[in-house]
Amino acid sequence: MYTFVKIFFSLPIRIKVILTFLLLFVLGLAAAFLHVKQAEKRIVDQVVSEQVLLTRQLLQVFERQITTRLQNLEQTTFLLSDLSIVQSLFNNDQTEGLVLDSFENVLLKNPATISLKLADLTGETRLEVTPEKSQVYQTSNQESRVSQYDYFPFVKQISMNEVGLFIGDPDEYQDPHLDIVAPVYDGFLPMGYVIQTVSVNGFINDVLRLIGKDGAFLLMMSQRANYLFGEDARLQAGKQSPAFEPAPSSPFKFSQAFPNTWQGIQLLVKGKPDPVWSEHGLYFTVHPLEIEFDNVGLYQSWLLAYFSEEKVLVLAAPQLEGLHTRFIIISIVIVIIACFLSWWMYRHSMMEELSFMAQAAMQSMSPIILLDLNQNIIKVNNECLKVMGMSIRDLCGQRFSSFLNEEDRIAFERMWQQLSCDSSWKGELRFVDAQGRDVEGLFQLFPLESSKSKNQGYVGSWMDIREQKALERRLRSLTITDALTGCKNRRYYDHQVTGLFSNLKRHPDQTFCMALADIDHFKHVNDEFGHDVGDEVLQAFAALLEQETRTLDVVCRVGGEEFAILLPNTQLKDALMVVERVRKMVAAFPLAGHDITCSFGVAESNPATDEDDLYKSADNALYLAKENGRNQVISSSKVVQGTFEPPSSQSAR
Ligand code: GH3
Ligand code: MG
Ligand code: MG
Repeated sequence: MYTFVKIFFSLPIRIKVILTFLLLFVLGLAAAFLHVKQAEKRIVDQVVSEQVLLTRQLLQVFERQITTRLQNLEQTTFLLSDLSIVQSLFNNDQTEGLVLDSFENVLLKNPATISLKLADLTGETRLEVTPEKSQVYQTSNQESRVSQYDYFPFVKQISMNEVGLFIGDPDEYQDPHLDIVAPVYDGFLPMGYVIQTVSVNGFINDVLRLIGKDGAFLLMMSQRANYLFGEDARLQAGKQSPAFEPAPSSPFKFSQAFPNTWQGIQLLVKGKPDPVWSEHGLYFTVHPLEIEFDNVGLYQSWLLAYFSEEKVLVLAAPQLEGLHTRFIIISIVIVIIACFLSWWMYRHSMMEELSFMAQAAMQSMSPIILLDLNQNIIKVNNECLKVMGMSIRDLCGQRFSSFLNEEDRIAFERMWQQLSCDSSWKGELRFVDAQGRDVEGLFQLFPLESSKSKNQGYVGSWMDIREQKALERRLRSLTITDALTGCKNRRYYDHQVTGLFSNLKRHPDQTFCMALADIDHFKHVNDEFGHDVGDEVLQAFAALLEQETRTLDVVCRVGGEEFAILLPNTQLKDALMVVERVRKMVAAFPLAGHDITCSFGVAESNPATDEDDLYKSADNALYLAKENGRNQVISSSKVVQGTFEPPSSQSAR
């Protein structure tokens, strides 16, 4: 069991949900099915007990009617025996015709009577009336005067004014019948007997016609379980239906066809009542019928009433139908409940998973910030607090953008205005930490959705990119920096000069100048002191240029020992002053222990020209400076105007 539970919980959620659904479905249906089966049994039992009650009443009426009818028959027989014409007949008076008439009349009134006989004291029939014929017999000889009635010895015990009843078992008589015998007396002298033979079937059918019952069938059997009467066509008296016949060798026996019921009936005799028995699809109730014989005591027999299972089902049908409708409704409810519980379980698991994930996210190494729809900070994780160097109180409830670098704050607020509820945003932001330092981060903003509401706020996930940014800056600076001297390189120069020209196109008054510097006779330094020394001189030269120019000015190494100085927002005359000061400094102090001089060509920007023209102008001026003896500053205007004068600075050194 424990292993089963363990395996179940290790299953994927979908499988778990399906299994739960099936389990609920099967258990629910099984419970409903059992409930319905029990209810069905209750309904059937109820109908059976109602029917049993009815059959009991029927049996009581049946018994009363039988008793009354028997008394009638006894009365009739007695009256016949008391007729004077009957007594006269034994005195050899010629009264046969009159007797026959009387007998025929009685026969006509009693359809169950199959014969009326007059017998003498030896049992020999003197006269007989049957529905078919009326007959008078001649007195036979002495030898033949033997009674054909097995009960005849008992007949002799019937006293005057008494009537005897004799019933034969059907194993002895094919058609069970009842003989009612009344002795004929002449004064106190017995003369013979009136014998009325009644068909049990006919007799009971008469009784049944009087009762007018409905639904149940009646059965009568002897104490030895032989059928005396069966109302059902299947249980005709004396002839057993093949359907109930257990073995051909034992016909006619109720005990063979319904052994359990018979056993029950016998227990009833022993005082252990069992009111109803069910066997072979029939329900039986029983009632003992005792017929008192004046001469031989009690005749014990059984009256049974029975009804079929089919009848019970027909009677129970309306209630069963209602029950089955209820079962269908319960099944549907079970399916709905199973679906709902499975769905709930699925949702619960998903929520658990989500909350687990949310917890994991909050504990992650990335700073996370939850914002409401008004950009207020709702929650932050520990990593965020660590990076910002702040406490929860410092952050929560504050506007998010208030923790951004001013420049980014404006951009972020602009973006926030346009951000729709369900869109996300990604970009670089600079946060300002507790010490006021910029913390660069790659920030992603997602809409926060829950199962209940679509738009709850935003989740901001933030990646600290300070290191990447530093690396990026270093790389970018390397690409624009000259490795030897540390000043800007040719690429940077190109980029800057292009920028200055495009600015000039928009603002023609923002003139700028460019000076080209070339160390004089640098080859000699290399040749005399070696290349490394030449490098040191170059480094010192570049440093001097940087030092002696304005912060705004940009010094770039554009060739081996050639440098360009860009002087933004500078007129030519001012530029010449700056450059001249630089030239003097170079010439005045040894650089890396070596005295060197430098020549400069200076050109002013012109909105009508471009970068190449500017460079060429400066280069031409530099060329002239070299030509003119080096260590001097030449302006391009001089070159153009051809007013070049040998510089007085030649001797300045
Ligand atoms: P001038 O300019 O006065 O006409 O004479 P110069 O000797 O300086 O001639 P030029 O400008 O043509 O020579 C440049 C020399 O600079 C050639 C080369 O050996 C040297 N040079 C160029 N780049 C470097 C460098 O990176 N390091 C060193 N040590 N020398 C360099
Ligand atoms: Mg050169
Ligand atoms: Mg040179």
